[in-house]
Amino acid sequence: KWTEYSLQAGDVLVQAFLRTPDKKLANKYLGVTSGYIDLYNKLIGPYPYTKFALVENFWETGYGMPSFTLLGQKVIRMPWILYSSYPHELLHNYWGNGVFVDYSQGNWCEGITVYMADHLLQEQRGSGASYRRTSLQKFTDYVNGENDFPVNKFLSRNNSAEEAVGYGKTMMINNMLRYEFGDKKFIEAYTKFYNDNKFRKATFGDIQKSFEAVNGKDLSAFFKQWVDRKGAPTIKLSDVEVKKKKKQYKLNFTLKQVQNEDVFDVNIPVVVYLKGESQVTNTKVTMNKREQAFSLTYDKKPVRIDIDPTFQIMRRLDRKEVPASLTQVFGEKQAVIILPGNSKHLDAYTSLAKMWQKTQQAQGKQLTVVTDNELSSVPTDKAVWILGFGNKFNGFVNISEKYSSALGTKKLVQIEKLKKEGALVYAVPNPNNTYKTVGFLGANNADAIKALSRKLLHYGKYGYLGFETEKATNVLKGSLPALNSPMNYIIDNKAEINAVIAPRKALSEAK
Ligand SMILES: [Zn+2]
Repeated sequence: KWTEYSLQAGDVLVQAFLRTPDKKLANKYLGVTSGYIDLYNKLIGPYPYTKFALVENFWETGYGMPSFTLLGQKVIRMPWILYSSYPHELLHNYWGNGVFVDYSQGNWCEGITVYMADHLLQEQRGSGASYRRTSLQKFTDYVNGENDFPVNKFLSRNNSAEEAVGYGKTMMINNMLRYEFGDKKFIEAYTKFYNDNKFRKATFGDIQKSFEAVNGKDLSAFFKQWVDRKGAPTIKLSDVEVKKKKKQYKLNFTLKQVQNEDVFDVNIPVVVYLKGESQVTNTKVTMNKREQAFSLTYDKKPVRIDIDPTFQIMRRLDRKEVPASLTQVFGEKQAVIILPGNSKHLDAYTSLAKMWQKTQQAQGKQLTVVTDNELSSVPTDKAVWILGFGNKFNGFVNISEKYSSALGTKKLVQIEKLKKEGALVYAVPNPNNTYKTVGFLGANNADAIKALSRKLLHYGKYGYLGFETEKATNVLKGSLPALNSPMNYIIDNKAEINAVIAPRKALSEAK
């Protein structure tokens, strides 16, 4: 009934059982499977079974069981499964089926499986921060005083709130442990947890023990707060000022925890942009009061401060806290491309749209293509691409006007020039729904549009970009601040800010 394919990956026999023979598909799975087994061998420890089998299932549901995974015949052919639910199910051979869950103390295994599979794969593509942001956004949107519960009460997900706590919050607890102790110690602690508990029922308490042993630190307060207690802090930045003292600059600011629940004891990442520096400065402050004043000293003038801009800690987000980047437009599950119906470059824009549509579809996302004259307004319920300087929605968000102080005179002049003879790309929050991002791409040359259709995906972390010539050579790049966000503050409106926050290396690269 099934056709069997197999491959020996070290000590593990990797098998694929397909209902209809398909060597190409089987080889794809065998290849990535041995890749994942190799990754987790290095990251956690030896794979706990002697075989792993992928079985094509008659039903469309996916199951992970010790040493094999069932995938439906449609699902198995969707290319993004290889990088999302498939590695997740495979990793459950370690977390869940290698180390078992003692459900009486809460299900710890989904959070760490999400962290080491779904999150890790996003991180490898430079999208770790936006993955965490989405997760925190879900918690903010779905979890409230009535349905909130501590993660030690989580069993399995039956609704969005349970998922936001049992998967999302537990993933963030893991991220905080990593942020606190660093990649090496984080991996070491989980390797120890795996070795100590293999084929045994384990609890959050056992994870705590491993981290305590590896780091030589009592972590009962941390685990009590995040595992036994519900809720999350909501943080706001205020009273930012810089004072010059002799040759040094003092940056003073206040952080507040404004949630109804009790104060959380939390270490908060602070990113400071210094005048003339091409890299940002990272600091960590410890907060354990409702309201707390901080002071940091620098040799160069601080021009901007961001609080947890890469979403390292478990907290509720503010609606206005939306840093715009191209990744957000590309990353959205549903998006629409608006073509400029009357542009002389319509053909070039149409080919670009078709190419992106294919790429997005391959990742399970939906991208629809329309022309500007079919719409009376820019959609607010999905991500949007506005293409072409001739688009009737060009100017929907005028970045030169809205972000003039953040951009500075030199860049404003450059942007005007690019509008006439180059190419300009940017991403901004939709003014009518700041949860959604609007991307703009305009170019004065059909070849440049063609070049950008391939190039742009590699510039995801940026908020604005400029290109010149038909080859689309990059001449301008940077990120725009989230305006009115309670988590950042621009100290010097005139200072040019060139530094961008580089994404952290994926956990898999730490070893
Ligand atoms: Zn799972």
